[in-house]
Amino acid sequence: MRVDQETDAIERLAYAGGRLTRARRLIARTAAQLHGAFTIDTLAERVRVTDAASGANATVYRAVAAMERAGFLTRVGERGGHALFARCSTRGHHHHIVCETCGRVAHADCPLTQAIEASNAQGFRITRHEVTMYGLCPECAARTGS
Ligand SMILES: [Zn+2]
Ligand SMILES: [Zn+2]
Ligand SMILES: [Zn+2]
Repeated sequence: MRVDQETDAIERLAYAGGRLTRARRLIARTAAQLHGAFTIDTLAERVRVTDAASGANATVYRAVAAMERAGFLTRVGERGGHALFARCSTRGHHHHIVCETCGRVAHADCPLTQAIEASNAQGFRITRHEVTMYGLCPECAARTGS
């Protein structure tokens, strides 16, 4: 019973009260179970293990877009030209470090605060910016001996 209630909460949270189909429920549950960052392809593969139809690429793609709009998933980087997503419950503006080996995600303060303030002082309005960091988490770094 408790597990059902939790699952229900995850599914509703994932789409911020938007349209909930059986496929979307399964996709949200599967996304919540993945550790670290994942691509849409990886998520679709995992969903297909449970239900082939729900894991259709187009269905998963649209579900991820909806979960991103709802703030349930955050785009945390990219790998091989594919966007990486993860759950992020850290509030406020920040950036992400994704382990290139295992996909573990860490959060980092924005390094551009000063640059943005300096731009504002010159009358520019910065509407968006990007910070990308590449590297290994402590465990993966220890394993590779670097
Ligand atoms: Zn974060
Ligand atoms: Zn790692
Ligand atoms: Zn920033």
